[in-house]
Amino acid sequence: MPGKFDVAIIGGGVVGCAIARELSRYQLRVAVLERAADVARGTSGKNSGVVHTGINVPTGSAKARYNVAGARVFEQYCADLDVPFVRCGKVIVALTEAEVPDLDSLMARGVANGVADLEIIDSATLKKMEPNIEGAGALNVPTAAIACPYTLNIALAESAAAAGIEFMLNTPVLDINGQQGAFELETPGGTVSAALIINSAGLFADKVARMAGVTRWRIWPCRGEYLILDKSKGGLINSMVYPLPPKGGAGLGIHITPTTDGNILLGPSADYTNDGDDVRTTAKIRRQLLAEASELLPGLTPRDVITAYSGVRPKLNPSRIGGFGDFVVEEVPEAPGIMHLVGIESPGLTAAPAIADDVTGWVRERIPAKRNPGFKKKWSSVRRTREEELAVIGGLIEDDPAYGEIVCRCEMVTRREIIDAINNELDATSLNAIKYRSRATMGRCQGGFCGPRIVDLLIEHGEEPESITLNGGDSWLFMGTTEDLRAERKARRAKAQKARTQHAGVK
Ligand SMILES: Cc1cc2nc3c(=O)[nH]c(=O)nc-3n(C[C@H](O)[C@H](O)[C@H](O)COP(=O)(O)OP(=O)(O)OC[C@H]3O[C@@H](n4cnc5c(N)ncnc54)[C@H](O)[C@@H]3O)c2cc1C
Repeated sequence: MPGKFDVAIIGGGVVGCAIARELSRYQLRVAVLERAADVARGTSGKNSGVVHTGINVPTGSAKARYNVAGARVFEQYCADLDVPFVRCGKVIVALTEAEVPDLDSLMARGVANGVADLEIIDSATLKKMEPNIEGAGALNVPTAAIACPYTLNIALAESAAAAGIEFMLNTPVLDINGQQGAFELETPGGTVSAALIINSAGLFADKVARMAGVTRWRIWPCRGEYLILDKSKGGLINSMVYPLPPKGGAGLGIHITPTTDGNILLGPSADYTNDGDDVRTTAKIRRQLLAEASELLPGLTPRDVITAYSGVRPKLNPSRIGGFGDFVVEEVPEAPGIMHLVGIESPGLTAAPAIADDVTGWVRERIPAKRNPGFKKKWSSVRRTREEELAVIGGLIEDDPAYGEIVCRCEMVTRREIIDAINNELDATSLNAIKYRSRATMGRCQGGFCGPRIVDLLIEHGEEPESITLNGGDSWLFMGTTEDLRAERKARRAKAQKARTQHAGVK
């Protein structure tokens, strides 16, 4: 694994992978070091998937600049990488008459940030657009869109890998030594050398900065929980439905967001936590999310929910201070040769293409390089059969019967798609790696039916059962055969019995 590179990117989230994809246009030796067993396992796989327009960020901030620039290219970006994208629009709803004047200031900021086609609508127009939503008026944002965040993250990584970028999964960076031109990144598998470093470690970017002697930032993790509604509820809304942002709050308020796959998300909550890896979901927040979402969309019940997840915001200000923290995209004098990306919270997904552009410019100023003939503008990984016309599917099955076998019934994922997901460009083979590439296990039954079948396919592909994990690390699916376990339990019981007998003898 260890090697010598021009650039080492720490972190395989959407920002790190967008940079890797941009750098893959040039003949540069680039490595992405990711501590998890796959890309998109941090915040980038656990957000609302909204392509923000720039309405919620202060005019003149780095957030506003990157957001607006990213949103401008996002649709084409997704088209090039075969990532689901829907321009469904957004309504920001004033729940009461008293809230209606607040829509004006939101609209004014959107106009100042260059957001097009904004209009304030009354309750009757809102009812026509969104018959199931309650509100006294709304700001209509027709240019807002949604995209599939983890598919984008994976497509960026896989297209970059296909163009020659090296991905080192299960590779946490533990320390950084050396200086610009000759950095040494210490990992459990050995030392990786690089001339330049990009610190794109999300929630741990402050810790990575400290490894290089930069102590100026501290990240305050703030957890946001979501509920996912069953697809049968997907028709309840036509666009994203947001409340007015809570004043001084850590997020944009509990919103109701369609996904590109036809589910609805409720969330996120906002709770500060001590741990960037704290992705718990809780019964308390589940009740809170249902109650708050029901103010906008009455009639929701717990039975509509199929599962929950949470993502953590890398905030640059503690809860007691709150307020605005801007994106940091900076090389600092204490550590030349390292580009730090810190506090990349929302709208970081939207901003990723624009951040990647800037960071690539920074690298090219330091290491000029020719174009890479291996770079391909268009990329596509697992074909989504469920989105095809029946006639097309018929043709696919004729050529390859694996397209005719449904493995995941809830999400209609075929055996061919699972096999293509297993044979991915990054060699990621956990159950979650297959899930996020194919959508298998994401439906109502949450893998109850197709989970074992995917395991069979992984074994057919050559994986040892004992090596299969849910999510890398020690999240093993199997601990041995039932027979082994029974024998182990019997031996434990016999040992305990012997100890009891000896103890009784002593007494
Ligand atoms: C609740 C919530 C909702 C959001 N909604 C939206 C939205 O709708 N629209 C939008 O535009 N943005 C949204 N965002 C923001 C967006 O998700 C983030 O800005 C974006 O995903 C950040 O990407 P990243 O690559 O910087 O970080 P991450 O995705 O966290 O990636 C960082 C990676 O670094 C790895 N890493 C960390 N330390 C090390 C180490 N020492 N060695 C190796 N690897 C390491 C991690 O494992 C991780 O994979 C939301 C965020 C949250 C939390």
